[in-house]
Amino acid sequence: MSTSTLINRPNPTLPVVRREAALAPLRRPRRDRRLEVIEAPDVPLVDGRRVRYANFDYAASAPAVRAAADAVAELLPRYTAVHRGAGWLSRECTRSYERARAQVARFLGCRPDDHVVFTRHTTESMNLLAGALPEGTRVVVFDSEHHANLLPWREPIRLPIPDSPATAVRSIVAALEVLGRDKPVLVAITGASNVTGELFPVAEICVAARRFGARVLLDAAQLAPHRPVDIAALGVDYVAFSGHKLYAPFGAGVLAGRGDWLDAAAPHLSGGGATAEVGDATCDIAWKRGPARHEAGSPNVLGAVALGAVCEALNGEVWEALVAREEALRERLARGLAGIDGVARLRLFSPGAASVGTVAFVIEGLNSGVAAAALSAEYGIGVRDGLFCAHPLTRRLLLDSRANVDGQALRASVGLGTTTADVDRLVEAVARLAADGPAVEYAVVDGRHAPVDDPRESY
Ligand code: PLP
Repeated sequence: MSTSTLINRPNPTLPVVRREAALAPLRRPRRDRRLEVIEAPDVPLVDGRRVRYANFDYAASAPAVRAAADAVAELLPRYTAVHRGAGWLSRECTRSYERARAQVARFLGCRPDDHVVFTRHTTESMNLLAGALPEGTRVVVFDSEHHANLLPWREPIRLPIPDSPATAVRSIVAALEVLGRDKPVLVAITGASNVTGELFPVAEICVAARRFGARVLLDAAQLAPHRPVDIAALGVDYVAFSGHKLYAPFGAGVLAGRGDWLDAAAPHLSGGGATAEVGDATCDIAWKRGPARHEAGSPNVLGAVALGAVCEALNGEVWEALVAREEALRERLARGLAGIDGVARLRLFSPGAASVGTVAFVIEGLNSGVAAAALSAEYGIGVRDGLFCAHPLTRRLLLDSRANVDGQALRASVGLGTTTADVDRLVEAVARLAADGPAVEYAVVDGRHAPVDDPRESY
């Protein structure tokens, strides 16, 4: 049943906007059709118009790129059972599935003895590794992690949210000194914060971890779509990421890394595909080694193939231009937001810290749920509001911001399909909301803010 509570009206008393000067046009990366995002349809506004959807929610899920969609379309007519089928197409499908594994391994710069296990997403990858840790392993995390990297571990050591990359390294070193070498230790860190986009000093943390014989798991859910990730070069032991954030939204994710713990662990799921042999007695089971041990059940072949195709398209040659383009978009967005009175940016580290194209902020005096709903209903812009599955971090940043807000924040994140015009539209819309408030009234409907008498359903 739907609840409807009136919680916000347009506010004429909000601060005035400082306009941002026009910014330089962006350099276009060399056109690669494989990395073009599948264009979204126009979306309806409360005033009856339809406009281009300005998607600023890439950090949650990215639209598919051509490489993923084409790979799926190409495989679909030949889709059949993998691994155990004797038919010709079954062999072809098996080859495609295993090729996808090799493409992911190349994308990550895996060492020859690393395993690449297909999962559903980062969350499952973390849970898989949590179940594969040797008895007594201590896990060290920061309080700033996404819940997927806070909750799967048994009694993790939660370090305080660092205020600089250097503090992060020092804090890990101090924890490792106390833990010593008696028991295995896993340091589980994100590559880029899903709230602020800021980069963590992964390579430095790996150097420190090695000094103490500890292993490192990199949560690359937010890093892999924005920066090259090289397991061997960084020195990480495990990497987890999600296909749906990497332009391959077909339900596959990855856990890649050292094979020894994975081969020694009980399988993530028990069932067909993971077994080498099953005897007559219940306990008489020989489990496979390698990725298959943790991939029981029929695998998500289409998801893996889509993800492999994107990994191949995102090869070493394209990154320089992609990173330069994203940096320009992030900078334009950050400068635009900084020029608006009443907008406070949330960040972990000092201004200027390296970051991917994700920006968290609040609009003084305006409920973030209402702001997000207004950006959608009045401007055709999709952002995210709330605490972003990183509650301890976002709550802390909101407290630190001292802005007069409602305990929730806004997050805008860019990706391959974002244009400078989209960024300008977002900045302009936020400026209008900060100055004048929303144009229509909003209420909570089924737990989300929506325009009162929303006419869009009938368009
Ligand atoms: N880690 C980080 C840093 C994330 O941002 C997310 C999702 O937003 C996850 C883990 C979990 O990803 P998934 O929901 O695909 O499992």
